[in-house]
Amino acid sequence: LTGQVAVSRAPGGSLNVRDDLPPTQHYIAGAFDAVDHSGPRTDVVDPSTEQVIAAVPQGTAADVDRAVAAAVAAKDSWARLVPKERSTLLHRIADRIERNSEVLARLESANTGKPFEVSNDDVAGTVDTFRFMAGALRATTSMAAGDYAENHLSVILREPLGAVGVVTPWNYPLLMAAWKIAPILAAGNTVVIKPSEQTPLTTLKFAELVGDLLPAGVLNVVSGLGATVGARLTEHPDIDMIALTGSVGSGKAVARGAADTLKRVHLELGGKAPVVIFADADLDDAAVSLRAASYWNSGQECGAACRILVHESVAEAFTRKLVEQVSTFVVGEPGAGDDVEIGPLVSKAHFERVTAYLERAAQQGITAAIGGAALDRPGYFVAPTVLVGVPDGAECAREEIFGPVVTVETFTDEDEAIRRANDVPFGLSASVWTENARRSHEVAARIDAGTVWVNSHLVLANEVPWGGFKGSGYGRDLSIYALDDYSRTKHVMHNHGR
Ligand code: NAD
Repeated sequence: LTGQVAVSRAPGGSLNVRDDLPPTQHYIAGAFDAVDHSGPRTDVVDPSTEQVIAAVPQGTAADVDRAVAAAVAAKDSWARLVPKERSTLLHRIADRIERNSEVLARLESANTGKPFEVSNDDVAGTVDTFRFMAGALRATTSMAAGDYAENHLSVILREPLGAVGVVTPWNYPLLMAAWKIAPILAAGNTVVIKPSEQTPLTTLKFAELVGDLLPAGVLNVVSGLGATVGARLTEHPDIDMIALTGSVGSGKAVARGAADTLKRVHLELGGKAPVVIFADADLDDAAVSLRAASYWNSGQECGAACRILVHESVAEAFTRKLVEQVSTFVVGEPGAGDDVEIGPLVSKAHFERVTAYLERAAQQGITAAIGGAALDRPGYFVAPTVLVGVPDGAECAREEIFGPVVTVETFTDEDEAIRRANDVPFGLSASVWTENARRSHEVAARIDAGTVWVNSHLVLANEVPWGGFKGSGYGRDLSIYALDDYSRTKHVMHNHGR
């Protein structure tokens, strides 16, 4: 079963983004800080070359307090805009982002190592999220519900919450910011966002590009560390809700930090998506689809199809097809060509984490049918990997590796497949592969995940919700469910019978 190491582009295609960089200051009350930040900064590194490309301020609690004060000062007038006015502004944001797609994709690729295929998709997704929310906010209106008690008319209102705090991860810096900012603003709230300290550039660029379209204070960006800026935002008494996309550990810290003020919490956390392939599945189609769904964004994807459970009777045939697919990947820096599909991992620390998982798997006797190690070149590259002979309960099949690593396990019957699919602490997404309609329906119903695909994986759309069960958190991104998350329901009852 052993395949060749994936096709690798020679080093040498680094991106020059010096002229594209945003101001490396906090963006508060409609302007980047005029006075240079005097405290420590965090280096921003290009993971393809390991070169420092910028340095951003490590915000303090006082910086957060300034941004929160700006968001609080802006919230009443923003909430009072009628839906049509907010919608117009969100459409303008979408148009401005679309016009600047190229620079945003270039910056994102330089900061994360993402192939352009992924960065372009992220920017297009950002535009579509703002367009969707601009339309949806006009359709999800309050309701005059009717008379439910004698002579009393009930009116049910959807109200904004106020000022919302947001903390985002490094794997989709711009897209995750858009998934939060668009529904938060659409629902009539103001926002203070802290991007990942590793990948702050496109969030700052977003503020630079669209800041003038919004009243001062509606959008604020404070860069810095989770333990300081993220924690202060979480605990701040004037922040009405905190939304995090990140790891389970950060989710627990945020849930704890929010408890004293009893603010609302929205958590989009990790995943370990099971992919259940039955003997009657179209194996060629599954292998081609999973090539994309397992390794998109170099596997640094919370919904990645990373944990394959395949019926024992077709395991060998399926694995051979998957390995064939994986052997065709073009690996390299984003600058090495538009056909690059797998880039480096985001940072040295993450690279060391992923390669340590591979080393421990090898020590446990688990073999790589393809890949299995770092690539011998500059940058944080790991070969796209398929691990086979993975026993039930193995670490690599239970924990979120968050790299281009897929495990293949086998099962004998439907009940065992479902039990093992659910036997992880996460519940973000999953897929079922079968030609049998009864089985696809039943298995999808019994899998504990916020999204279950049938004969597909990792296909998302702005009209449908995204979010997890169990250790993957709660709250929903995208769709009108996100608008709902970022608003509150009020009932007003009029006595009209006096
Ligand atoms: P991370 O948890 O290390 O960091 C995420 C953000 O949280 C960063 O901005 C960080 O500074 C901040 N943070 C850290 N500690 C904090 C604290 N105590 N209080 C407040 N903020 C804090 O995650 P990461 O490594 O940047 O991102 C990868 C993780 O994100 C993975 O687990 C992945 O599955 C998850 N993710 C989930 C989704 C989803 O939709 N469910 C999407 C993308 C990424």
